[in-house]
Amino acid sequence: MNHNFFYDRELETLKRDQLEIRQQERLRHFLRTVLENNVFYKNKFEQIGLRDLPDFKDWEHVPFTTKSELVRDVEAHPPYGSNLTFPLDQYIRLHQTSGTTGRPLPVLDTQESWNGWKKCWGYIFRAAGVVPGDRIFLAFSFGPFIGFWPPFEMAQELGCRVLSGGGQSSLQRINFIFEHQATVLVCTPSYALHLAEVAQLHGINPASSQIRITIHAGEPGASIPATKKRIETLWGAKCYDHIGASEIGAYGFECHLQTGGVHVNEIDFLVESVNPATLKPVTPGEIGELIITSLNRCAYPVIRYRTGDLVRLSDTSPCACGRTFRRLMGGILSRADDMMTIRGVNVYPSSLEAILREFQEIVEFEGQVSKDGSMDQLLMKIEVDGSLQHSERERVRLRLQEAMRMRLGLRIDVELAAHGSLPRYELKARRYKRQAPQ
Ligand SMILES: [Zn+2]
Repeated sequence: MNHNFFYDRELETLKRDQLEIRQQERLRHFLRTVLENNVFYKNKFEQIGLRDLPDFKDWEHVPFTTKSELVRDVEAHPPYGSNLTFPLDQYIRLHQTSGTTGRPLPVLDTQESWNGWKKCWGYIFRAAGVVPGDRIFLAFSFGPFIGFWPPFEMAQELGCRVLSGGGQSSLQRINFIFEHQATVLVCTPSYALHLAEVAQLHGINPASSQIRITIHAGEPGASIPATKKRIETLWGAKCYDHIGASEIGAYGFECHLQTGGVHVNEIDFLVESVNPATLKPVTPGEIGELIITSLNRCAYPVIRYRTGDLVRLSDTSPCACGRTFRRLMGGILSRADDMMTIRGVNVYPSSLEAILREFQEIVEFEGQVSKDGSMDQLLMKIEVDGSLQHSERERVRLRLQEAMRMRLGLRIDVELAAHGSLPRYELKARRYKRQAPQ
């Protein structure tokens, strides 16, 4: 097998100054095309009196774009909004966001922008060590969610065999993985754990399958060390994180050295990190909100898009893998709006998950937020391995409660839930619920 781990070695290892020259050129072309024809951005730029094409030096005057703006634009100009650079009949694909945080946003692509999407998956697959001949199993249903379409098509271009997991139960998917000797599993991190759980319940050891690589997105799990380790142990495979969003593209991928961060594909995307309150750039290594501009998608552009994701963007020193693309250290740390304030302490779901996933006995969990006087409190329900005695399960409960108190400095009540009673997720998990006030 030829593992060179690059999709385009020359581009991925460009010296920073050359990379920036390339970005400048691309940005100029991108803005010229977009601002000539795209009503959404034409209006946006005109409103602030920006007439000339902005360059890197005046980039900070370029307005941010938010998801709610795109949603409002669709409402004002149904059914697809005005963020379309070309006539509607040139668009050949429709996708929509999962709608976990509001109503789904429709996103259209032309053949050209779709090719750009696919290409992003070339970087993701190659960096993870996918080679021709790999059998790629996509554990998703056939739907307008963009997550699985680009890998489905790119895998074929790379000479892999694609195995679609649509219309199957989890057990059928397990059998399918074994029967067709899948070597790569693509799904959300939660679902990789769930599939392994279902396999074990049926006396099948997922690690005895031929799966050697798992690739995940949709949730931060694959960058949370305890979750990553758990997926790797259960599947006997190397687990990779990648990051993308329907309205942006698949902009982040982990390299095979897994140096603690997710590379941003800086050929196709401009990346910034700003303080979410002041919107001023943060220094490298500090936590900030991720801002992305998609240079590879004139047809449905986002310019200085506020992702709402909190990240720690590295400086420009190259990674040990040779890539000069900067990294999001620890992947997506959290969504800015996922933060909970429990008994006055700021808590992110990813910090809770980092603790929970260290407990091999816990198979699923769900948090319930409710008011206790003026403060929010959190009750964590856990499902513990059904083969354990009640006293052992009770010990897990107490140990978890103590670990959360020690690590977060916070009392979180933990309750045992009946086996199989908590929901499992195929797409983005929603594990935190707010209890309506009595
Ligand atoms: Zn690297």
